[in-house]
Amino acid sequence: MPEAKLILRGLHKSFGDNDVLRGIDMEVQAGEMICLIGASGSGKSTLLRCINQLEPIDDGAVLLEGQDISEPGLDLGPVRRRIGIVFQSYNLFPHMSALENVLLAPRRVLQEAPAASRARVEALFARFGLGEHMEKFPDQLSGGQQQRVAVIRALAMRPEIMLFDEITAALDPELVGEVLSVLRQLREEGMTMILATHEMGFARELADRVCFMDGGVIVEEGRPEAIFTAPQMARTQAFLRSVL
Ligand code: ADP
Ligand code: MG
Repeated sequence: MPEAKLILRGLHKSFGDNDVLRGIDMEVQAGEMICLIGASGSGKSTLLRCINQLEPIDDGAVLLEGQDISEPGLDLGPVRRRIGIVFQSYNLFPHMSALENVLLAPRRVLQEAPAASRARVEALFARFGLGEHMEKFPDQLSGGQQQRVAVIRALAMRPEIMLFDEITAALDPELVGEVLSVLRQLREEGMTMILATHEMGFARELADRVCFMDGGVIVEEGRPEAIFTAPQMARTQAFLRSVL
């Protein structure tokens, strides 16, 4: 097997005396989709934030294609471009069109001619079914469309890995499907992804691997059919009973 795209080694993270991550080990292959499941407070969001260095870790290492990106003092700009993240709250700027929102970061950061960025970003809107909406302002878009714009905004930086933190959790139920279909499409295109999600049906359908977190550790991981139909650990069984 080729070297993993991303390796987490013994990650520890505390906030004060709250040990939130207590030794997380994970290997993610290029093109894999990993779903993190677990109760609120189990450390899923913190883990995602530690992966792209939005939070400094206290111990362990994060290796991106073999390079330790958790080393103190490293320039984090390139790291954050290579690992995109989308949150539950999409936070588009209200006074800018969808297109302008998405163009902002690439224009500022990527060494790319404006016309080239624009063509590339327009193609992204078209690819994800929003070609007709890109000139609209956020308040003219549904929550599902706004979240899809937020995904496109992250993709516009040409990330190699995408992290998604409960990106459907704030949406009305009828809007969840359109956002999940964007993830489905990204998976088909071979994007490497790690998702924290409450959408068990989606995790079961599409994850290559499901990791159940509890108390800052990965209690159990495996293929979705194994985790969902024959969980081995009592804590996994109890969690799944509570949500399924
Ligand atoms: P999850 O995403 O699984 O709900 P989180 O990673 O958000 O879990 O939270 C895990 C624990 O870390 C919680 O006890 C939470 O209060 C704590 N926590 C998360 N972020 C911070 C922070 N920035 N400062 C202090 N405590 C935090
Ligand atoms: Mg969370």
